[in-house]
Amino acid sequence: MTSRVLTLLGATGTIGVNTLDVVARHPGRFEVFALTGATQVERMVEQCRVHRPRYAVMTEPGAAAAVRAQVAAERLGVEVLEGAAALADVASASEVDTVMAAIVGAAGLPATLAAAQVGKRILLANKETLVVSGQLFMDAVAASGAELLPIDSEHNAIFQALPRDCCGDLAGAGVNALWLTASGGPFRTLSAEAIAAATPDQAVAHPNWVMGKKISVDSASLMNKGLEVIEARWLFNARPEQIRVLVHPQSIVHSMVEYIDGSVIAQMGTPDMRTPIAYALGFPERIDAGVPMLELMGRQLTFEAPDTRRFPCLQLAFDALAAGGNAAAVLNAANEVAVARFLDGAAPFGAIAASIAHALDTLAGGPAATLDDLLESDRAARRIADAFLGAVHA
Ligand code: NAD
Ligand code: MG
Repeated sequence: MTSRVLTLLGATGTIGVNTLDVVARHPGRFEVFALTGATQVERMVEQCRVHRPRYAVMTEPGAAAAVRAQVAAERLGVEVLEGAAALADVASASEVDTVMAAIVGAAGLPATLAAAQVGKRILLANKETLVVSGQLFMDAVAASGAELLPIDSEHNAIFQALPRDCCGDLAGAGVNALWLTASGGPFRTLSAEAIAAATPDQAVAHPNWVMGKKISVDSASLMNKGLEVIEARWLFNARPEQIRVLVHPQSIVHSMVEYIDGSVIAQMGTPDMRTPIAYALGFPERIDAGVPMLELMGRQLTFEAPDTRRFPCLQLAFDALAAGGNAAAVLNAANEVAVARFLDGAAPFGAIAASIAHALDTLAGGPAATLDDLLESDRAARRIADAFLGAVHA
């Protein structure tokens, strides 16, 4: 068995920790080349002790200095790099064959794209990369022969339910529709008024999944599902009208593919991200993920329509997908700013959708031909959302 050489972008986050958990179950199968984080010194040092990477990257210089001092004192033999540019270096290094892209937000785009441009196997958790730069990113993957394996549980489920040689030809595979399931989040049964008054603690208390704070808020607003609709469009080359959303509060059916003969193929399992992570790490082999087997006896599985009136973010994402161009980049950036403000207690939950709608009204239709165009739309949307939220709060 040849071992795979890994760079983990966002190693200190929820997906990163789950990835290292699976890696540790398979001694000799994976070699860790680089781990990256932003500010969490203690966790990075602990990961260096256990996994002994060649490099550790901390984007925040103070955190890098602290990790450097500690790994030197313990003689761990890890070289510590700092700054965002080092992320792309360890993602594209020639020694590496597999990159787990698990940084949160558009901050993950440059390093993930760098891995795509040099033909790595990319395990993609960082959905924001595809939302911001979908066409450009998929073009880079096609040009270099990179391999893209989805980590998002829904997209991993669809990937598993599609023929393995499908390669973006949904019509050729006889696919009619892709059904993305959504738990509905912690506010699924709340009134519009209660949702508008929700606190950060309520928003991050997800019923079925333990995740980073940003994606937890996105799950509460259903923006996470909106981002996933856009992600599915690019990953599977689906037409927007082929992508459907179904609320399934138990999170057992992770998503489904509907074929023209009426067959629907679903992937199910205990909700635990180590399943899609292990699937992608071992692909095409199945490997142990440490996940308890699904117990269906006595379980009820239910399904309902999403309510875009109480959860306008989902509709905004469908609208941005239909608009094309820079709209998804604008949507994503405004959402990132608004979610950060909400988590800081400086904006109400309802301001998230309002600031995205405002940014889309102001900026959609702008240039989107190059990566620079999209990054400029991202920056402009952050400014617009910031100003809008400042005015709301004042
Ligand atoms: P998290 O907040 O737990 O971890 C984020 C990671 O990114 C950390 O390692 C952090 O150090 C790093 N990071 C944050 N800002 C950075 C920056 N500016 N520059 C460089 N590194 C930075 O997030 P998570 O829940 O692990 O999610 C990571 C990604 O995976 C997100 O895109 C999320 O949408 C996606 N995802 C997560 C889950 C899940 O269950 N957690 C499921 C599906 C998809
Ligand atoms: Mg998901």
